[in-house]
Amino acid sequence: MSAEREAEIAANLADVRARIAAACRASGRDEADVRLLAVTKTFPASDAAILAGLGVRDFAENRDQEAAEKAPQVEARWHMVGRLQRNKARSVVRWADEVQSVDSVRLADALAKAVRAARDAGERTEPLDVLLQASIDGDPARGGCPLDALADLAYGVTRSSDLQLCGIMAVAPLGMEPGHAFDRLASVAGDLRAEFPTARELSCGMSNDLEEAIDYGSTCVRVGTALLGSRGLASG
Ligand SMILES: *Cc1c(COP(=O)(O)O)cnc(C)c1O
Repeated sequence: MSAEREAEIAANLADVRARIAAACRASGRDEADVRLLAVTKTFPASDAAILAGLGVRDFAENRDQEAAEKAPQVEARWHMVGRLQRNKARSVVRWADEVQSVDSVRLADALAKAVRAARDAGERTEPLDVLLQASIDGDPARGGCPLDALADLAYGVTRSSDLQLCGIMAVAPLGMEPGHAFDRLASVAGDLRAEFPTARELSCGMSNDLEEAIDYGSTCVRVGTALLGSRGLASG
């Protein structure tokens, strides 16, 4: 692992932590209530190892195949944040501690079944932590559950003892002002939490909009570019 890359990542991490701290101060929030999730998609496991060495505990990936290879190389909590086909459920539950991109009851059922099988096979003991991915603008092309269907999805998740409902995740839609998007999301998250007390997590905010997200109550910012650099074109 190159000393140059390590120095670059350390400087980026210090920047991101300072931004989170400043945003927490500005909105009167406790820094301990905002987790940093390092999004390592397209970057090598060695970069994740550098971040882990600097104290980062949570990592996220958006593709099963890439993550299945990377996650076992770095001792950390691994999160799935990308669109997930039901036929990948069995593979995802082998490496993921949490899936943040659950957007349908069918996917929740497939994950529950996969966790059950993994438990029966002795591959894991704990239920899978789950966040519901909300679609703030309701555009089905970009994944996520429409806001008016979230409560039904939450019931679907809580039916299973193999899944633990922990909250909600979203990406600010393109072309919508992030503050406006997170305002809507925060209100939906509040309603959900009132009905499902374990749904405390609000995962929103990325490299470009983490300040707005923290202002609207984010408990988990997902940061890739600001930590590791730009990913190039084909990566999503
Ligand atoms: C890639 C990705 C991120 C990180 O985005 P950056 O702009 O690179 O910080 C966050 N959330 C999800 C769901 C992603 O796919």
